[in-house]
Amino acid sequence: MIPVQGFENQTVAVLGLGRSGRATAKALAAGGAHPLCWDDSPSGREAAETEGFEIRDLTREGALDGVAALIVSPGIPHLYPAPHPVIALAWDAGVPVDNDIGLFFRSFAAEGFDDFDTSPRVIAITGSNGKSTTSALTHHILKECGRPTQLAGNIGRGVLDIDPPQDGEVIVLELSSYQTDLARALTPDIAVLTNLSPDHLDRHAGLGGYFAAKRRLFAEGGPDRAIIGVDENEGRYLANQLAMGQADDRVISISSGRKLSGEGWSVFARKGFLSEYRKGRQVGSIDLREIVGLPGAHNHQNACAAYAACRTLGIGPRQIEEAMKSYPGLPHRSQLIAEIGGVKYVNDSKATNVDSAAKALQAFPRIRWICGGLEKEGGVDALLPHVGSVAKAYVIGREAEKFALALKGVDAEICTTMEVAVTRAAAEAEAGDVVLLAPACASFDQYDSFEKRGEDFAAQVAKLG
Ligand code: ADP
Repeated sequence: MIPVQGFENQTVAVLGLGRSGRATAKALAAGGAHPLCWDDSPSGREAAETEGFEIRDLTREGALDGVAALIVSPGIPHLYPAPHPVIALAWDAGVPVDNDIGLFFRSFAAEGFDDFDTSPRVIAITGSNGKSTTSALTHHILKECGRPTQLAGNIGRGVLDIDPPQDGEVIVLELSSYQTDLARALTPDIAVLTNLSPDHLDRHAGLGGYFAAKRRLFAEGGPDRAIIGVDENEGRYLANQLAMGQADDRVISISSGRKLSGEGWSVFARKGFLSEYRKGRQVGSIDLREIVGLPGAHNHQNACAAYAACRTLGIGPRQIEEAMKSYPGLPHRSQLIAEIGGVKYVNDSKATNVDSAAKALQAFPRIRWICGGLEKEGGVDALLPHVGSVAKAYVIGREAEKFALALKGVDAEICTTMEVAVTRAAAEAEAGDVVLLAPACASFDQYDSFEKRGEDFAAQVAKLG
């Protein structure tokens, strides 16, 4: 655990008592603060009470009197579509609002750092898609190369839950836009933006607000290195804004699909090959087609980002390549779960938005596509240019009919449940086909989470065997 510094003997309110909220309360207490906890749901309050935390109804008048800060969980809206009432109370009372990420950055450097030969460093990874994959891959490469490392944030442990860092350790943090938007301190040594596409627009009042939230990771703390996906205008804008000129190698541009040229530092993947250029010369390359854990151009973008992050730490291209070969992949992300009669079954339940599903559709040549669920804002039109590889769609979800109608020009069968979709897709699949779960929708109309949806897919596939 990282004890929170700067609040000794002060009262700090904690709003939201899920995994990260409870870890925050513990870390506050370990640093000598007195946490007061609240969650709108009784089950959240019970869990914290069982762990011995003091519960106080923060929604009541005067509840924030004498409180030094209010720490908010990422699931709680802090501005849009409307701030949680406790946050509005904190504004009125002049109580600073922060989150566990802000507390982490202000508490990370402890006294012991002075005795280390190499200061521990933090790599923070954000982006619309590929955050978890890039974070897990970076962590995997570091581990394989014998570097002390821990993985935390949106993936793995809560940030304040990690062990105090050792000499030379590298902490890999996956950060969402909710987290980067609210944190009062954001000072990673290396910051990564994988890509940007519309998501969570209600929480950021549109794409501009969403980009602004992610941009804070680069603009607030001034990282030593900024690794930026330049396949969208926002990434190009940011890379341009951060670099002093063409040869400024504090910025590393990454791309999946485009050859990047110029004097600067760049890493890009084209036709399955990763290339690294520096000062106009190629200094590294990897044949990514050999790396089974990273299928498709979208994963090659993640590979570029993780490669660049590891290169900034002085790890050589060949070592990175070797480590990538043993990357096992993450559950529910382009995960091959079975091959039956020449048909592959791939679980990409995490493709909860249109962009990630479009990427999955481009990763395989002939697809029986299981899709549908709780549709996100913006509709599915952006998927239509990418359905060329789809032999047939098998639509699930409470609104399967509506979703199927929106897939103009695609042969789509309304299956509603996963069981029917898997059975039908398996019955019609031919050797060489991929039965792909890439819903392009949230799961909450039928499941508690995308993980549960992916598990159901795997369970239905297991029945086929
Ligand atoms: P995140 O943590 O940003 O949600 P994940 O690595 O968990 O990212 O992947 C989420 C979904 O997006 C998965 O369906 C995955 O196959 C897809 N995906 C992964 N990397 C990328 C990428 N670079 N671009 C677009 N989609 C991606």
